[in-house]
Amino acid sequence: MFRPVLAKMLPYTPGEQPAPGKCVKLNTNENPYPPPPAVIDAICSAAKGPLNRYPDPMANSFRIAAANALGLPGPEWILAGNGSDDILTILVRGFVGEGQRLRLPYPSYILYRTLADIQGAAWEQVPFQDGWKLPAAFGEADDDVRLVFLPNPNSPSGTIVSPAEVAKIAESLSCPLVVDEAYADFADTNCLDLVQKNDRIMVTRTLSKSYGLAGMRFGFLVAQPQVISELSKIKDSYNCDALAIAAATAAMGCSEWLAEICIKMNATRDRMATKLAEIGFDVTPSHANFVWCQHPTADHKAIYEFLKSNQILVRYMDFPTWGDGLRISVGTDDQIDACLMMIERAL
Ligand code: PMP
Repeated sequence: MFRPVLAKMLPYTPGEQPAPGKCVKLNTNENPYPPPPAVIDAICSAAKGPLNRYPDPMANSFRIAAANALGLPGPEWILAGNGSDDILTILVRGFVGEGQRLRLPYPSYILYRTLADIQGAAWEQVPFQDGWKLPAAFGEADDDVRLVFLPNPNSPSGTIVSPAEVAKIAESLSCPLVVDEAYADFADTNCLDLVQKNDRIMVTRTLSKSYGLAGMRFGFLVAQPQVISELSKIKDSYNCDALAIAAATAAMGCSEWLAEICIKMNATRDRMATKLAEIGFDVTPSHANFVWCQHPTADHKAIYEFLKSNQILVRYMDFPTWGDGLRISVGTDDQIDACLMMIERAL
């Protein structure tokens, strides 16, 4: 009854999502703080709006606000989506046909592989080298590879590839390169400028992390206008709902709030990284709102289980051929203190 591809697939599991308030949640890189008050106001106003009517299919109010906020030439450079996962789906649909391939670094975001599987396409993983450097093979041209994903900052490492290196990779590839900038607001570089210079470079962004809007579901693509207009043919008709469009449009006007929250979360992250190193972990220097840490002797799975039994959720990740470790999202200072105390106890 189902397409054969489903038989070999497992459901995508993004991480445990317990009932709100039940535990300290440091496992899916959300923002521990609520979104800006202007965003809540915009959602409340939109809720009183004509919800019996369909929303704007292209979310134009958002596109205008985002183009302004990001210094882009105009709204036609932006495609809005129901979370950046929706945008990633549209990209795979648009560029990778059945039997063709997409490329991703390893370890990185698992969803790219799932999307390829759904599409009946293949995927190839190019392992990071020591120090989370990309090997030359990542930029090699190959006619069967139709799309390359580069999460930047990467997850789970939080490491970053410089825009100059991204530009070099894009030049050597024979297909488009998607720079997934879900965490870029926490970093001090990004690849938005490259999009204007090269129509084969595209950038995805989300409001789930820095803007504290994971529950709203809103993400977007920045690409050259001809790319946006082609891809808009294959998105769902009304892929963003009216409340999310209102929230995201208001969020784009909150640049001061954004800068402050990122400074605050980065300070908490750096404090957590320092402490983890003091108690014996190898901590990968992070440019995102989480840290990847590995202990030379301790059992990561056991630490994860111990934290969980104490209502603290972090992410245990095991990458065959790479190793396992803990990815801990930035929480409030109190949450991180509680987590660090329990980790010390577990050791
Ligand atoms: N890209 C990366 C690298 C991520 O870690 C995530 C979050 N799981 C996403 C994209 C998707 O974010 P969202 O769909 O919430 O916009």
